[in-house]
Amino acid sequence: MISRIDLRGNPGDPRDLLPRPELDIEAALDKVRPICEDVRHRGSAALVELAERFDGVRPAALRVPREDIDAALAGLDPDVRAALEESIRRARLVHAAQRRSDTTTQVVPGGTVTERWVPVGRVGLYAPGGRAVYPSSVVMNVVPAQEAGVASLAVASPPQAEFGGLPHPTVLAACALLGVDEVHAVGGAQAVAMFAYGTAECARADMVTGPGNIWVAAAKRLLKGVIGIDAEAGPTEIAVLADDTADPGYVAADLISQAEHDVVAASVLVTPSAELAGRVESELAARVAATRHRDRVTEALGGRQSAIVLVDDLDHGLAVVDAYAAEHLEVMTADPAAVAARVRNAGAVFVGAYSPVSLGDYCAGSNHVLPTGGSALHSSGLSVQTFLRGIHVIDYDRRALAEVADRVVALAEAEDLPAHGEAVTARMAGTGAAVAAH
Ligand code: NAD
Repeated sequence: MISRIDLRGNPGDPRDLLPRPELDIEAALDKVRPICEDVRHRGSAALVELAERFDGVRPAALRVPREDIDAALAGLDPDVRAALEESIRRARLVHAAQRRSDTTTQVVPGGTVTERWVPVGRVGLYAPGGRAVYPSSVVMNVVPAQEAGVASLAVASPPQAEFGGLPHPTVLAACALLGVDEVHAVGGAQAVAMFAYGTAECARADMVTGPGNIWVAAAKRLLKGVIGIDAEAGPTEIAVLADDTADPGYVAADLISQAEHDVVAASVLVTPSAELAGRVESELAARVAATRHRDRVTEALGGRQSAIVLVDDLDHGLAVVDAYAAEHLEVMTADPAAVAARVRNAGAVFVGAYSPVSLGDYCAGSNHVLPTGGSALHSSGLSVQTFLRGIHVIDYDRRALAEVADRVVALAEAEDLPAHGEAVTARMAGTGAAVAAH
């Protein structure tokens, strides 16, 4: 069911040998462009028609009435409510600790640079709801935005025919638990366009974040610039770095849990142990047959994006997982913390037998919106930092400027921008009366 890639004795760059699913966003752009233009020009009327076309329902109201949000919370299963509350509590603990304080550096007497961290003013958060519903994604988007101090926050999630055109009640209940009362029954590319351009019912946002399918990713690519975005999320992926101390049942369970997301999800085991590889293959065969979404899981594990990769030793394994830069990386080896500390590239690292990815999906306190497709080489997951901008505040007095004036002029001349230098010499020539207080 899952293929093997044997990299033993092959210490070269493994990147081309570890295939990833192709996400053809370019093709989706052609489809998404008219959708976004329609929302731009016709606003809410376009959103209602697009909901009928893509979600099979005409929402009674695009902006979800407060009483429907409250009713969803009142009807929420008590166990799910307790789980969501615990998820929110842990996420708040971790994300509150990420908040940076402003720093002021005195460069010279009378000359300072302060870095002020200022939250984005208004943010649109997307909670997917096509094939599955993701109240956990509401938590993972809203908590960092709130902890960053974002003043205006709106959630969009697709209208569901089953619920009369409202977003899924568990998504609405999660919003209620988080204190979010602006929710829009809008899905897909049109939700990104709504936040980018604004409509009669939804003020335009400065930024849109959150996972979604290829249409959401394509709209983010198209409208980047009109609106800030977090990332274009691609299909989800797990890499497990394991040696012969790992429990093959745990490894197989985790590979399957990732494959459950999507037929293009990637599950990759990297191991120097051929024995573990064989035992994991047996476990997979038994567990896949018994799992609820076995068709989807079988297709994902059998796809060219999933594999068991044999390596020479753990050092080689580390080189392979670093080159792959997985969205999720589990380390199940002897002394897993020491091995995990050597990892350079991953969206999130899960250490040892008792830190599975599904803990991180819901209740570890960490964020589950993470870089996919190798973008962990240069990017991080969603955090408080995503919603903050560092503004440099430069404050020099006359004496501090005078001290460095010749240097500025020299660099301005070197760049053939003499007016830059003159902006400084004009001040040095003056009496300084106008800025005496400074
Ligand atoms: P979605 O909400 O992203 O997409 C549903 C919307 O897609 C619909 O409302 C509709 O407007 C639009 N759409 C459907 N068919 C279309 C078409 N042919 N043309 C244009 N638009 C169309 O929900 P989904 O489809 O279930 O996808 C969710 C994705 O988000 C999955 O890939 C899942 O793995 C991912 N996800 C990732 C994370 C993470 O943290 N990385 C978390 C949750 C979900």
